[in-house]
Amino acid sequence: MTGGMHYHIRVSSTAKHDPILLVHGGAWAIPRDAEAAHEAGVQNALDAGYAILSRGGSALDAVEAAVTILEDDPTFDAGRGSFLTSDGRVQLDALLMDGGRMKAGGVACVERLRNPIQAARLVLEKSPHVYIVGAGAEQFALAHGMSLIDNAELVLDRERERLAAAQARQAAGFADDTFSGHKDDKSPETAFAHDASSHSHDTVGAVALDARGNLAAATSTGGTLNKTPGRVGDSSLIGCGCYADNLAAAVSLTGWGEPIMKLVLGKWATDRVAAGTTPELVAREAIAYLYNRLGGHGGIILLGPDGRFGLAHNTPAMAWGIATVSGSRTGLTV
Ligand code: ASP
Repeated sequence: MTGGMHYHIRVSSTAKHDPILLVHGGAWAIPRDAEAAHEAGVQNALDAGYAILSRGGSALDAVEAAVTILEDDPTFDAGRGSFLTSDGRVQLDALLMDGGRMKAGGVACVERLRNPIQAARLVLEKSPHVYIVGAGAEQFALAHGMSLIDNAELVLDRERERLAAAQARQAAGFADDTFSGHKDDKSPETAFAHDASSHSHDTVGAVALDARGNLAAATSTGGTLNKTPGRVGDSSLIGCGCYADNLAAAVSLTGWGEPIMKLVLGKWATDRVAAGTTPELVAREAIAYLYNRLGGHGGIILLGPDGRFGLAHNTPAMAWGIATVSGSRTGLTV
């Protein structure tokens, strides 16, 4: 390239593609009495997102619509009904990415927005930035037409009880026995993992391919139970819990965020699809890498530009769903 010349490549094809939408509603040991609610929530998200794709709408609109439904459903750790911070508040993180325009928008630590994924979309469309956090993100959303609500509207009694139980366990020195790490490792992160691994990872996400051949991804979360106020996990960090590029793949992850962040696992996975490995194999490899390298647990949905996809988790269950031209289906294990 000669000095002063710049290339901007927008990658999309004119060919007609069969649209595909995949969603997840978290990877953990989903209890029996919560199974139906998880599958129903995932199905509702598929219905909303695929309605957009089947009338020729964009992958970005579809993932935003699907995740909005999941944020509004108190079953999941996103939007209302999310896990609480150690001081009893809901703090939300969300990111979406358009793989055709290579644009991304994220928000983190927002407390007064019912649908952080819609604020993330505003960041993507209406700001020169990729990421806005805290009060700045709330004011940005307000300035672009979103309402600010009281944080208490996002907090459920169920979550107050869950937080109290987690803090009682913490005070008792993590008496439960679900962590498989080294017994002598008393670091704060290991202690947190000990507790986190016994709890749910109900983050939500979606990946889509539209009829124009564009990919998009979205992930939204209330983060981990009893997190320190201000903590940001993998979900809304670009290339960690969410990424999309038409030249590679679209991905959304869920699980224990700190290991996923350290491995930049979303980008790790999409790079491998770009290099020619099938999404089906890469999804399994990504979760194996997460566990083998850092003892992490979680789940992944991964979609390539040719419509091939992969799902994997190393937790007992992961709520997932897929919609294609031939219909839709949901499941709780892969
Ligand atoms: N990955 C999320 C986080 O660490 C939690 C989850 O997936 O449920 O914030």
